[in-house]
Amino acid sequence: HSNAPQGEASGNIWVCVRVRPWDGKGASRSLSVNETQPIISLLSEDKTKGHKRQSKFQYNHVFDEGSSNRDVYEQVGVAALTQVLDGYNSTIFAYGQTGSGKTHTMLGSDAQPGVIPLLGQALFKEIQAKQTPKQSREGGGTTRDQAEYRVTVSYLEVYQEQVLDLLEPGKQPLRLREHPSLGVFADGLAEVRVATADDVAQLLLQGSAVRKVASTDMNDRSSRSHAVFMMRVQQRHVSRTRGEGEGGREKESVSTMSARLYLVDLAGSESVRKTKATGQTLKQGASINRSLFELGNVINALSSGTKRHVNYRNSALTMLLRDSLGGNARTAVVATVSAAPVHAPETRTTLMFASRAN
Ligand code: ADP
Ligand code: MG
Repeated sequence: HSNAPQGEASGNIWVCVRVRPWDGKGASRSLSVNETQPIISLLSEDKTKGHKRQSKFQYNHVFDEGSSNRDVYEQVGVAALTQVLDGYNSTIFAYGQTGSGKTHTMLGSDAQPGVIPLLGQALFKEIQAKQTPKQSREGGGTTRDQAEYRVTVSYLEVYQEQVLDLLEPGKQPLRLREHPSLGVFADGLAEVRVATADDVAQLLLQGSAVRKVASTDMNDRSSRSHAVFMMRVQQRHVSRTRGEGEGGREKESVSTMSARLYLVDLAGSESVRKTKATGQTLKQGASINRSLFELGNVINALSSGTKRHVNYRNSALTMLLRDSLGGNARTAVVATVSAAPVHAPETRTTLMFASRAN
């Protein structure tokens, strides 16, 4: 079941910006970071006035060029994990132009695992600690608490509004359907049960490899598709209390919880550049990625904090994530940017998107 009421906005969005390393060989950076404020200042060209302008943006957190994937995990992943173990859905988005570090942040490398593998490690460490049965005595009886966990992984891609299974490639695009109590789901999506953090990392690699292969012959598909990695955590807590003595009756109480954690490596945001961000609303351009555009609108509505109606139906991605955005669900955005002056216009667009989400 989903714990998130649907269709209503709430201000449950946490936004940070990560600056990727740049070797400018002495050239000056277009932006500067104040991690304690936390503020990013950007120097960019104002085309209409013909001079440079300085803009300041504030977020929940900013990461400078020296930050590691673990730093990002500590700020973003830990909170998401807590949320999911408490039975609430949670989503982390990586948003930014191609090459700014989205995949590095979410997937990482062998040398520097990203947020997804680090979450897998922390999740199974937590499960191991909680799965050990606990015995306690009180009021002359004995209580035995036992927790059971079931974790599954799915990995899909939204490309040109089609939902494709990355764990079972070659299948027809999946249809999004609605279940009265389970919420929105991709019909036929593989859900693979995992028992260790290594299982998680292995499926992540396997699905990402499929995505890479597809991108070489399809005009850099990976920068125009959204990769959605999902971990579903189901819990069953059984508490058995036995009264004093031989004939003591056993009382059993069972509680269950289920929550979804979505980890989303979004399409390159440069595809929305031509939409001319104006104030609070984006005008949809001709060539933009519909799901990215609609996600911006949904996040915008959610972060405004008012109980404004949110339309999830306009794109595959927002529909898929409907039950994990808004309500009790926690959403985090990691916006990734470059400090290179050549990227300043794109960086500005990303910083503006992120500050609207804030
Ligand atoms: P994106 O997914 O946003 O298109 P990538 O994550 O693929 O960008 O990053 C492009 C390149 O830059 C990759 O080779 C990646 O390893 C490197 N890179 C990006 N961000 C960082 C970072 N914070 N630290 C080290 N290398 C990075
Ligand atoms: Mg990428």
